[in-house]
Amino acid sequence: MSVEFLTERVGYLPGAVNVGVIRAGQDRFILIDTGLNDTSGKKAVKAVQELGGTVTSIVTTHAHADHFGANATVVKRTGARVYAPSVDEAVIRYPILQPSLLYAGADPPAMLRGRFLLADPSPVDEIIPPDRFHVDGVEIEVISLAGHSPNQLGFRIDGVFFSADIALPESVLEKYRIPYLYAVGDHLRSIETASGIEADWVVPGHGAVSESLVTVLDLNRRLVLEVAGRLQEFAATPSTANDLMARVLQSYDAPVADHPAYFLLHPTIYAFLSYLHTQGAVESAVEGYQTIWWRT
Ligand SMILES: [Zn+2]
Repeated sequence: MSVEFLTERVGYLPGAVNVGVIRAGQDRFILIDTGLNDTSGKKAVKAVQELGGTVTSIVTTHAHADHFGANATVVKRTGARVYAPSVDEAVIRYPILQPSLLYAGADPPAMLRGRFLLADPSPVDEIIPPDRFHVDGVEIEVISLAGHSPNQLGFRIDGVFFSADIALPESVLEKYRIPYLYAVGDHLRSIETASGIEADWVVPGHGAVSESLVTVLDLNRRLVLEVAGRLQEFAATPSTANDLMARVLQSYDAPVADHPAYFLLHPTIYAFLSYLHTQGAVESAVEGYQTIWWRT
């Protein structure tokens, strides 16, 4: 697989996670994310070597294992400096926090320690500042896309928008039905932000590169509002969070048959409940050793 250039110095390596590749100098390259594992890391290093250079910096969009899991491999092979968003950087340095966050903050069991949830630790050399920063002489514009993770960031370089996971492609939504979310209100605001970003090209974390994100952003926005609506509708009868979760997942026929799938959506439903509570749309109390939620 070789790097596909969209402008003179900005390109990407297509894959399960698209890896951004930016030429910073004759033989110096910046990666935006690295991919899931050792294999993706080696692939990125090799692709840059084929361009006659080496990776000098890694800019990470957010702390999900499929995006930063190969950082360790790339750093070991090239000595690259790692730039990461604040907050998310804690998970990048201590990846056990990711499955732990999904598992109610506790020590996660073996089922949640697979490669997709538990990456190798990556060093973080610099926290990415707001607005813009420079890496190896390249100006990178920073766009807050919080919500999918606590502090997910997007980047614009030479008219190319690296949009991380702000808008998942239709194929991914069809497969998982409800995507993982950390904060629903932030995510909806970030969708608005992303809609207003002007770019010649958009390189999403997953899926095809395109000239505009408008259609897929709209699809993601509608789904989030629909899930919030259904949850509210089911909460017409006071219910436990677990009952609400089961009803919503069932109504979407969500493919939740193992622990990783369940524990990605468990906090997601809680994220929706927080959002509805902030809106004054649901209320909650503790009764019979359970949290009960109801529509106001
Ligand atoms: Zn993600």
